[in-house]
Amino acid sequence: MACRCLTVLYFPFSLSTPIRILQSHRTEISHASAEFKGFIATHPGISAAVFVGRDGNSIIDTMGITGVYVGDRHYFTEAQEGRSAITTGIKGRISGKPICIFSAPVFDAEGRFDGVVFITILVGELDAWMRGSFIPDMQGLVLCDAKGNILAPASAVADGNNGVLAKVSAQLMELDDSGQTFISSAGARMVGASVDVGKGGWKLIYFQSVDKILAGYRWQTLSLILGALCAVLLVMPFILRFCRSIEGPLEELTAYALELRKNDYAVTGKLHSSKNMPSEIRILFDAFTIMSLRVTSKIKKAEAESLNDVLTGLHNRRFLQITGADFFQNALAFGHLCSCLMLDIDHFKKINDTYGHRAGDMVLQGVAKIINASVRQADLLVRYGGEEFVVLATCADAGQAEELAHRIRQAIAAHSFMHEGVKFAVTASIGVAVSDADGVHGQLVSADDSLLQLVIRADKALYAAKAAGRNAVMVAP
Ligand code: GH3
Ligand code: MG
Ligand code: MG
Repeated sequence: MACRCLTVLYFPFSLSTPIRILQSHRTEISHASAEFKGFIATHPGISAAVFVGRDGNSIIDTMGITGVYVGDRHYFTEAQEGRSAITTGIKGRISGKPICIFSAPVFDAEGRFDGVVFITILVGELDAWMRGSFIPDMQGLVLCDAKGNILAPASAVADGNNGVLAKVSAQLMELDDSGQTFISSAGARMVGASVDVGKGGWKLIYFQSVDKILAGYRWQTLSLILGALCAVLLVMPFILRFCRSIEGPLEELTAYALELRKNDYAVTGKLHSSKNMPSEIRILFDAFTIMSLRVTSKIKKAEAESLNDVLTGLHNRRFLQITGADFFQNALAFGHLCSCLMLDIDHFKKINDTYGHRAGDMVLQGVAKIINASVRQADLLVRYGGEEFVVLATCADAGQAEELAHRIRQAIAAHSFMHEGVKFAVTASIGVAVSDADGVHGQLVSADDSLLQLVIRADKALYAAKAAGRNAVMVAP
């Protein structure tokens, strides 16, 4: 027999597959039958391997039936044209089940058409390949040929009309590898894509309902929300405890601050920090306590300074304004009269001009001491202005007040001041005013007004003492 050569058959899958196809090599036709059988034996998915002569009659068939005319079949006419083919949608002659045929032309040594070899694969075998594919969930995965005949899964084929291949819908056929959404014939929103498999015009189509895809995400979202809710419920007691640990101290702090304000920033109570408090609150407590103590002491200092005269150490005019009315009322309450002595150093400007300002200061301090030594502890002495002093004293009558004024005037005049080795003396003029027994002078007024009128009267008397030649005492009428 002439040396006829079987050429390559190709299998369309470029992916890994359990099916191995005849390798390309030349062989004597007499050896081909054995080689075909060996091939079938080692490739369980392939049901038959057949060689058909150029006249269209089968010459070798691993199923054992030869001389069958297939010259009118599509794959044969394709081979005559020199083309390989995949044929689907046909029923196996023996199995009666859907099969695919992979065919390839055979050429003689001169390259002329010399027949066709083909193998048949049970469509159901394609399931094995499908299972080895990249989609774990096979649902919604379909392999079909170029005409839309379903090749796998076999269950979809079997659903077809009596073993004849079922077809995929036109919608699925329109899918390409970019992925599309569409509404299925059942009205469901779907998403799908297809890829071309090998060179046979086969398509692998994957489609799924959008609801099913999203169901996973919905469950994930729900789980996330539930998880977050559980987390919140779990930490809630801690949050509440934390809030309470802050709330109590803050209330105490607020009460303390209000108390401070009410008491004009005089500290009466204390903030009690405890170890159970958050450290920030404890620090706040301590800082607030220290701050309030400092504020109180500063206020006290500022108040003292605002009521005292720095040069002489006596109280000042403001102190007289604040406490004078009380002094006045107390004197009357105890059955005394209240007298006011207004004292002004005579020609004090001259002392400054003659001996200097520091000598003037020294005189002011000296006069303050002399007056202070002359009045009683209970009397009220203030530096009223530059070189003016006011004494509020209780007395039985105007005569007693005048006597006190003379005592002071004489003590000042008798005193020798010394500045840089120079001795000198000063004199002072004093105006005296004494209240009525009922405190008012002619009409009913407040203690403040009464005191003011007393001071005005004393000032007028002082003016008269100055006019009378100074170093004098005048009692207001
Ligand atoms: P008169 O007898 O009329 O009271 O005359 P005077 O010079 O005492 O009174 P005048 O009002 O003309 O002058 C008062 C002076 O006292 C003017 C001012 O510079 C001075 N003076 C006021 N305060 C102080 C002070 O704190 N220290 C010194 N050194 N001088 C003072
Ligand atoms: Mg004066
Ligand atoms: Mg004076």
